[in-house]
This record gives sequence, C-alpha cells and structure tokens, in this order.
Amino acid sequence: MSTNLLYHAFDIRGSQYVNTTYQGGAVIFKIRQEPEELRCPVCGARKVIRRGQVERRFRTKPIGKTPVWIDLGVQRVFCRLCGALGQVKVKFAQKRWSYTKAFAR
Ligand SMILES: [Zn+2]
Repeated sequence: MSTNLLYHAFDIRGSQYVNTTYQGGAVIFKIRQEPEELRCPVCGARKVIRRGQVERRFRTKPIGKTPVWIDLGVQRVFCRLCGALGQVKVKFAQKRWSYTKAFAR
C-alpha cells in the first residue's frame, strides 16, 4: 500500500499512508494528514497552532469481501488569524460522516 494507491483505490488525497493492521477480519489503514492540509477550518489560513488530535475512523470500500476502515488522527488547530478552534477539514469525507465518499458511492 502506498499513498498513491490510497488515492487511486479509495480516492483519498491530502494524506500519507502510515501502516496497515488487521482486526477481526477487517483491514485498517492508518493515514495521517499532510502538513500542508493544516489550515483553519473557518477562514482557510495557514497560520494555525496545533492543539491535539482527534482519532477518527472511516468506513470505506471493501477489498473483495474484506471490510476496510481508515484511521486518521485529525489535527485540531487554533487559528491565529480568526481565533477559531476546530478540526481541520478531511477532504475525503463529508463533515460528521463516518464513512468516506468512496464508500457512499
Ligand atoms: Zn481562521
């Protein structure tokens, strides 16, 4: 598995592949956000300060009959321009969805 394959198989961009684990018959790909994805979720500024991470798990397309999950530590940031505090946007999933756009299709 590579970052390139993540993109082609699961339509996941702006993230780097970290590792793969197997849990109860499912495959879990751990990814992390690219540093350039760290922008304010409100105004889009790059002048942000990291404020911890929130682990989120997304369901995505299965590989054959094997369920696939994506684990992503979503960075929380404080914006030095507008003062917002929140999670940076996750490009491959809609807000509050626990599954990816690829799975929704
Ligand atoms: Zn901002």
